[in-house]
Amino acid sequence: MVYIYLNKQNQNQENLEHRLIQLTNEIITTNKKLDTELHNIKKYFVVFLIILTVSGVIFLYIFNQNQTFIEGGHFVTQPLIGDSIKTGFTWHLYDKERVFHIHIKNHAQVSEQSLDMIKDSIMSKKIIEVNDLQLHKGPATNSSKFYIGWNGAINEISSRELKHQLPTRFHVHESMSDEGDVTIMLVDERNLEGYSGYTRSMVDQEKGQILKSYIIIYEANKLDGSKMANIVRHEMGHALGLQHSTDPDDIMYQKIQTDNPYISECNLNALESLYKGKKMSEFICKK
Ligand SMILES: [Zn+2]
Ligand SMILES: [Zn+2]
Repeated sequence: MVYIYLNKQNQNQENLEHRLIQLTNEIITTNKKLDTELHNIKKYFVVFLIILTVSGVIFLYIFNQNQTFIEGGHFVTQPLIGDSIKTGFTWHLYDKERVFHIHIKNHAQVSEQSLDMIKDSIMSKKIIEVNDLQLHKGPATNSSKFYIGWNGAINEISSRELKHQLPTRFHVHESMSDEGDVTIMLVDERNLEGYSGYTRSMVDQEKGQILKSYIIIYEANKLDGSKMANIVRHEMGHALGLQHSTDPDDIMYQKIQTDNPYISECNLNALESLYKGKKMSEFICKK
């Protein structure tokens, strides 16, 4: 009996041992399972982070796109209202026969040929017609006029009823004297702010009257004649009372970058409106 009992005890112990091995195995398997799950969680977390980063980048991109669109919105809506040109003060010439003196001080000693091109930007009566489709301003059936010189441009509107007399008789010549209505100085010096040209007008604020204008063309010795003529054409617009245009394709835009650097219909219409009395105002271009 004792033997049997012992045997039974042995068997029990064996069973226990077996159970212990089983439990250890189970623990190892569970641990392994936990390990895999932990690894999976880490994997999911990394994937989640990547998705979060990518969607963040996409969101910022779309947001910025939207912002650009909002900022650029005025390019879309602008043509509907039209570009505009600001106006300043006017000359009060009173007499139609009054000669308007423009003197050129050639400090930079630019060539005769360049001087002729500068004079042309004031004196020319030449008109160019450009297709509106090419200008992105309308259908191919329409065209726009451009004027090479201010004299020719003003001729178009001088017969109209104006409040202030526009200069119609221009006298452009070289002179080292400061006399004259407009003095154009061609200098070698570079403008520190990077301007190619600058116009400063003496005005009677109360009357809104321009008394005298000084135009400076910087680094004139380095500019070719046609470029200089474009700058003078722009600066003469200021000397006559126009300010800048919002249209990047206009000669009166703050930077000359147009393929047609000539006096536009809008420049002329703005000048007409200014000399009809709309000083320090904003003229909306018709196209
Ligand atoms: Zn003179
Ligand atoms: Zn300007």
